[in-house]
Amino acid sequence: MKLPKFINEAYTDFSKPANRRKQQDAIAKLEAELGKEYPNIIGGRKVTSKEKFNSINPSKSAQVVGVFQKGTKDDAQNALDAALEAFETWKNVTPEKRAQLLVNASKIMKKRRFELNAVEVFEVGKSWMEADADVAEAIDFCEFYAREMLRYADAKTAVQLPGEHDELTYLPLGVGVVIPPWNFPFAILVGMSTAAVVTGNTIVLKPSSDSPLNGYKFMEIMEAAGMPPGVINFVAGPGAAVGDTLVMHPKTRFVAFTGSKEVGIHINEEAAKVRPGQRWLKRVIAEMGGKDSIIVDRETDLAVAAKAVTVSAFGFQGQKCSACSRVIVDEKVYDEFVPMLVRMADDLTVGPAKTQENYMGPVINQRSLDNIRRYIDIAQKEGGRLAAGRVEVSHAGYFVRPTIIADVAPTATIAQEEIFGPVLAVIKANDFDHALEIANNTEFGLTGGVFTRNPKKLEQAKKEFFTGNLYLNRKCTGAMVGAHPFGGFNMSGTDSKAGGQDYLLLFLQAKSIATKIK
Ligand code: NAD
Repeated sequence: MKLPKFINEAYTDFSKPANRRKQQDAIAKLEAELGKEYPNIIGGRKVTSKEKFNSINPSKSAQVVGVFQKGTKDDAQNALDAALEAFETWKNVTPEKRAQLLVNASKIMKKRRFELNAVEVFEVGKSWMEADADVAEAIDFCEFYAREMLRYADAKTAVQLPGEHDELTYLPLGVGVVIPPWNFPFAILVGMSTAAVVTGNTIVLKPSSDSPLNGYKFMEIMEAAGMPPGVINFVAGPGAAVGDTLVMHPKTRFVAFTGSKEVGIHINEEAAKVRPGQRWLKRVIAEMGGKDSIIVDRETDLAVAAKAVTVSAFGFQGQKCSACSRVIVDEKVYDEFVPMLVRMADDLTVGPAKTQENYMGPVINQRSLDNIRRYIDIAQKEGGRLAAGRVEVSHAGYFVRPTIIADVAPTATIAQEEIFGPVLAVIKANDFDHALEIANNTEFGLTGGVFTRNPKKLEQAKKEFFTGNLYLNRKCTGAMVGAHPFGGFNMSGTDSKAGGQDYLLLFLQAKSIATKIK
């Protein structure tokens, strides 16, 4: 099997009237269908629970997007059993056939692109462009990991000893648990799940309770693409009941998690405990939070830097793990840069995500809204100056204006803790060395950016700025599969790189076979 060279999926050009119309039609169609009930899927069977929960539209909190099953511990157990049974056959399916499944899925996603975009618009409040980029990334993951699996299937040992035939073959691990977040509700869910199954594992997928319809759509697509029953089992439900049962189960071989630091630490701790009947140490792939900085040096085009910071801080309402939540500005240009940034933030439109003109939609839920307000209060109590974001938006959803807090101390609460909303801290630095020191002063290490014309400073940043994804003279969001393998250091996770050539290794174990031939 030979696939053409990987290329990233293009974004939809919404300046074209035909594309705008298709997107509007898909939004209208989905809106007419909102509120339907969706089952869990265990061993290919559709399963309902006594208790349900609603997925809601954060742009209009009274609107129910879908009704989902509140899975129980028993559902989690049954799903693991179904995955264990399916593993016995799926592990023997050839890498070529497993890769083909992903290519089939990618084709279906391309056909259903506008519908999938619409699901994100309603379920998590992504703007059209952000939703479209997320679906494009999911397509990229399918295509990239399909090719990567073929590459690993063709692995050779570095040395062939005389008189021997030396082989290296990559085996799947077993049954895994995949726990994605809501913020890249399709891309991350698809990326982690497809990496796990293309390598021959079977999984239980527990979607975020804020975005289960995205997960359900993925299940529909995988079934249509030819996935056998039990390879992916879908159990929506509470993190504590369903998630913990899956993570602690002795037959779980690995956990692929993306989400907050707190939940990541909890999962890592629980997975580390060896329970009765367990025959391995569980592998945990955890991609966690960030507190990402962009440094604006005195030697740079301030307007270009301000635009990039604005996009990085407020795109998808600042709810990207890669979002810029701290801008560290050289004191020489601070007084010129901050008003520029404030003007750009004040110009951003905020409102319901289904309206294409709104650059920013809502934040995900009431808890998040309350949390963001709390941080804005703390920031001001600690001496920060509210420079943008005074106006509250009154719609029926969870809206926050892009907020800029200037004059923040490098160790202030909002300079250290992940807020996960459209709140940007502006910190003043004495010079470039000081800026780098501040940039490295959190427990995280996910993304970072530097704006400077000075090549020496760029080289210094390459050496000293301790982040998994460093961006020089560009925005710090929008990692592209293949080009920017994504994942952070320290408390940002287990140093894995989604969309990179090392990623599938995390779901595989290598077997060396030496055969005497003379
Ligand atoms: P979260 O930690 O609240 O939830 C993530 C997932 O964990 C959800 O599916 C949730 O239901 C589940 N969960 C909760 N408690 C659990 C438990 N006890 N056992 C098992 N599962 C449990 O995070 P979130 O709010 O969905 O996502 C936002 C966070 O994700 C931010 O911190 C963000 O930085 C991070 N994130 C990181 C990356 C990355 O690549 N590093 C990418 C996207 C998001």
